[in-house]
Amino acid sequence: MARTMITGGKAVLPTGAQQVDILIENEKIAGIGQASSLAQTDNWIDAKGQIVLPGLIDMHVHFLDRFMGTISLHDFFTGTRAAACGGVTTIIDFANQKKGGSLADAIEHKRSEADGHVVIDYGLHAEITDPTPAVMKEVRSIIKAGVPSFKVYTIYEGMMVDDGALLALFEQTSRGGGLVIVHAENNFIADRLRREYLREGKTGAMYHALSKPNIVEAEAIGRIAYLAGHLKAPFYIVHMSTREGRQIMQHCRHKGQAAFAETCTHYLCLTDSVYRRRDGINYIISPPLRKQEDIEALWEGLHEGTISVVSTDDASFSVESKRMGKDSFDKVPNGMAGVELRLPVMFSEGVLKRGLSLERMVELTSTNPARLFGLFPQKGVIQVGSDADLVILDPQKKVKLGMKTTHMVTDFCSLEGLRVTGYPVMTLSRGKVIVENGKFVGRQGEGRFLHRKIDFNAIRNVR
Ligand SMILES: [Zn+2]
Repeated sequence: MARTMITGGKAVLPTGAQQVDILIENEKIAGIGQASSLAQTDNWIDAKGQIVLPGLIDMHVHFLDRFMGTISLHDFFTGTRAAACGGVTTIIDFANQKKGGSLADAIEHKRSEADGHVVIDYGLHAEITDPTPAVMKEVRSIIKAGVPSFKVYTIYEGMMVDDGALLALFEQTSRGGGLVIVHAENNFIADRLRREYLREGKTGAMYHALSKPNIVEAEAIGRIAYLAGHLKAPFYIVHMSTREGRQIMQHCRHKGQAAFAETCTHYLCLTDSVYRRRDGINYIISPPLRKQEDIEALWEGLHEGTISVVSTDDASFSVESKRMGKDSFDKVPNGMAGVELRLPVMFSEGVLKRGLSLERMVELTSTNPARLFGLFPQKGVIQVGSDADLVILDPQKKVKLGMKTTHMVTDFCSLEGLRVTGYPVMTLSRGKVIVENGKFVGRQGEGRFLHRKIDFNAIRNVR
């Protein structure tokens, strides 16, 4: 029987960080304690001076994403490989419903693109773009089939759902154990501003941000909170970017609502000043990057527990495809790669610079997404019986982020030149070492599809 022992590391356990040895057997964590009292093994991993974390979960990535006439550079092999190099052991992607199509077909299609290619385990959210009565009826069976989270957009013609459909969806999910996750932006305000700027010949990247001021996000979050609250349905806001958003979430929590939000790595360290740069179009994402005050508010939200998750929203559009919009910001495919960058940023910028505890970092990047999206305790925690998905972080290692150091297949790194202290040096997926010293040593297709089930009582405690 293959046994592996990780010795001497400081492991972040549910009870806090402490120096322990971890025994791995049959893909699972089989023991936590002192090596001498655990079973014998020949396979040792020395983690002295290092930090051992539960493998990260990125519940927001878009691999093989087709958007605005182009396709993302990351596929399920290259995307999950880069993820693994950044300490990620589970991703959740999106199965996009075709117009008139079923959710089951969308899931089957996405699985056919991912199975046999992913190097780590993965799940899918069902993305609803055409909320027909048939689809609404399908929601409960999709939840039972292991896809209990449903993504909707309140913006983008052809993808957005209206408030009536949103309310109907909350009704279905709240009864059946599903979670609605929302891209929250007010389509009408953004659309009007966009048309005005374009009419005035204001086509540069900065006008993308100006056409989506904070109110665009805040209004949509407020509306969703109201609709969900009306039915006592839990909801989750993806890629929240504004200080107003944090205030609304505070308010919801205060009222005892099951209201959750994530933000993404880039909203925590970049401002909209990048849109004035010559390569500003490469930073066009939605919602846009904001001001320093927003960055500060988001970090506060992470500290206080009104923002529960940090993800990446990896959407790796090439510089060439971005250039489709060089003469008009509205023609730029929205999105940036980032799946590999989260752990170094959260450790260096969060733990070292902003006093985020190691335990809180683990909650935000692993335990909370596991709880909210129905993967806990199989994933998201170092405890006996859980999958041996682990990442070893060298807290001293200094790295300059950018194209030279990344494994992402993108041709542009949003955090180019950012110097970080602390970097993942080893990743284990179900007990197998798949990244060692920055080198991917795993195998294509080793990852499995995860059937998820959300526990409504447990998610209420997520902060
Ligand atoms: Zn996204």
